[in-house]
Amino acid sequence: MIKRIGVVGGGQLGRMLGLAGLPLGLQFRFWDPSPQAPAGAIGEMFQADFYDISAAGKFADGLDAITYEFENVSTETLKQLQSLAPCRPGAFSLSTSQDRLVEKTFFQDNGVEIAPWRAIESEDELRLAFEEFGPCIVKTRTLGYDGKGQVRVAAASDCAAAWAELGSQPIIVEKQVAFSRELSLVAVRGVDGDLRTWPLVENEHRGGILHKTIAPAPGVSPALQEKADAILRATMEALDHVGVLTIEFFEVDGRLLANEMAPRVHNSGHWTIEGAVTSQFENHVRAVAGLPLGFTEPRFSSVMINCIGAMPPADKVVRLGGTHFHSYAKSSRPGRKMGHITVCDEMPGDSHAGDFVERVQAVEDLAISAAGQVAHV
Ligand code: AMP
Repeated sequence: MIKRIGVVGGGQLGRMLGLAGLPLGLQFRFWDPSPQAPAGAIGEMFQADFYDISAAGKFADGLDAITYEFENVSTETLKQLQSLAPCRPGAFSLSTSQDRLVEKTFFQDNGVEIAPWRAIESEDELRLAFEEFGPCIVKTRTLGYDGKGQVRVAAASDCAAAWAELGSQPIIVEKQVAFSRELSLVAVRGVDGDLRTWPLVENEHRGGILHKTIAPAPGVSPALQEKADAILRATMEALDHVGVLTIEFFEVDGRLLANEMAPRVHNSGHWTIEGAVTSQFENHVRAVAGLPLGFTEPRFSSVMINCIGAMPPADKVVRLGGTHFHSYAKSSRPGRKMGHITVCDEMPGDSHAGDFVERVQAVEDLAISAAGQVAHV
């Protein structure tokens, strides 16, 4: 029976994994370079650099299974950990999603549609790609997140600056897609191959960071959901993935183009804590612990709003009713994910809870106002 789980990464995702796993009788050890990591309130902290492979043996000591909540970890460290305890998901899922070139090649090999792209090695190659694609986005192959490591090329005259900004490292260029909206799908696969998906959700980004998730995404046809489910199944089976995996999509003329995948619980799945029968966090720890998976059906409509830079006052948020306040206990900093709030349509028609749309707007206003205050300090 699995009792002790090691999590590489002690950020908010680790904290929420721990919060979901404690009631199942699981204990947690978190590997993080920072002594103030948010998961510290939940379990034992193991302080080491993510690239310190020599720390793997000490971290794995006494653990029954290992997972990760952060991708910018060396595959070598994970391979070392994999030799010491079952790693779910394994190093193959990590290495495939760490490098955009490997990831895009993997999508193509598995029949998953993506935006036109090229790996480029010179400013001239970038110019040629621009001639072919028109407006495009240059992205670093590795270490990009929340819109970092990307430059937009709107005109041929932007190529030199984009190359100068990112070109000293391996990069790719991608056609800028005229999507109608961004969707994502979170799915979980158990050790026995049981695979479940939550509904497609709609995501709104601001400044490259997720601002809002609407769950389930409005107006999704059964055919589109089935298409997304099939993409997740093909991906997770090809990776032999165990645990949660998320794919972000662009919706273009009713088609789904995969943008990127995360081999872990994902910000666009935070609504599942209150909005679904089983949350992404609980199902991930169940998969890691080899337990059967829980139902993934939504309980009601939910909207998740990220709090960037600062949290609004908890009393103002919970007073609205049907709102769920999640602070990650981090110190304030502009652009930092500090927490999230999920607004649920828990009691449709209940006059005490007020109108769902109005409550969502009120929470959004509070979150944006708190973010604005820290940005101007
Ligand atoms: P990424 O880091 O690849 O997830 O990109 C961050 C955000 O930039 C995405 O959520 C989109 O809003 C936007 N973006 C990235 N790639 C493209 C693309 N090829 N076409 C249009 N927008 C994009």
